[in-house]
Amino acid sequence: MENTCMIKKYLNEVLSIPSPTGYTKEILEYLKKEIGSMNVDYKVGNKGMLIATIEGEDNNKATTLSAHIDTLGAIVKEVKGNGRLSVSQLGGYMMNTVEGENCLIHTREGKKYEGTLQTIKPSVHIHANDARELPRECKNYEIVIDEEVFTKDDVQKLGIEVGDIVSFDTRTRITESNFVKSRYLDDKASVSALLTVMRNIKENNIKLKNTVNFYFSNYEEVGHGSSSFIPNNTTEFIAVDMGCPGDGQNSTEYDVCICAKDSNGPYDYELTNTLIEVCKKNSIGYKVDIYPSYGSDAAAALKAGMDAKFALIGPGVFASHGYERTHIKSIDQTIKLIINHIQK
Ligand SMILES: [Zn+2]
Repeated sequence: MENTCMIKKYLNEVLSIPSPTGYTKEILEYLKKEIGSMNVDYKVGNKGMLIATIEGEDNNKATTLSAHIDTLGAIVKEVKGNGRLSVSQLGGYMMNTVEGENCLIHTREGKKYEGTLQTIKPSVHIHANDARELPRECKNYEIVIDEEVFTKDDVQKLGIEVGDIVSFDTRTRITESNFVKSRYLDDKASVSALLTVMRNIKENNIKLKNTVNFYFSNYEEVGHGSSSFIPNNTTEFIAVDMGCPGDGQNSTEYDVCICAKDSNGPYDYELTNTLIEVCKKNSIGYKVDIYPSYGSDAAAALKAGMDAKFALIGPGVFASHGYERTHIKSIDQTIKLIINHIQK
């Protein structure tokens, strides 16, 4: 399969599986099946992360590449007297980005119910000015469940309770012009990139310099993604996560974005240089950038005591943590950088 087709296939599959942070079991099962079908060894940590390993010529040194399978979402905070649900946010996003969005409520018994996230004053015909001026704060939103429920008791009879997970419709669209529009391209664009890299290595029998670990972390959105379970032979850790194109930024939706500094400080100078050199040598479109309000899985690993060089690369994602957009080119350039960096 050609890379563009493979990227699209993975995007569609991975984006269709709800995985708000703290609720990643279903996508973990998908990864186990997919990676198993490539005949790649993997192990699953107690916390629910997965590490797949392909050995290289030198097994004493490893490049560990991470991408996170968890996304933003919500959790039921209160079953209200009016038969609706108030929520608490999972991860950091503006509430208006999910206003009017369809969602699923996942009960602890494994049932799924449909609903819509609305403000508490959702109709201009009823609330006129109030509806427009209502502060877009979490407390002013509620889920209207698509069941005939009118009281708290009605809702609880369905099995819906405080602490149930809420996932939002991703509204995934891949246009004829190869733009990808969806929620949660952060970081499922990179998850798709890593799966494509793995398939490429296996199908084209690409020989690797060092051993490569593919770390699929599951708590990145709340800060402790890859804070444990990092293989001991890791000498370099590359977080594969979204770049930030926008006003004043150097990143684009077409290149691989290489981050020189984010909220936690600079990335490793030498490893960042090496990655830039790989791009130059192989005519890979790249942009170096600084992210003013950003933390990655590399920081989670470092804060937990990892001793390795560390970098951050990934596709440029516009309107991050909102209704996001990137271009297939950006994912493709990310894949090319990874393959050229790790191959012998
Ligand atoms: Zn991310």
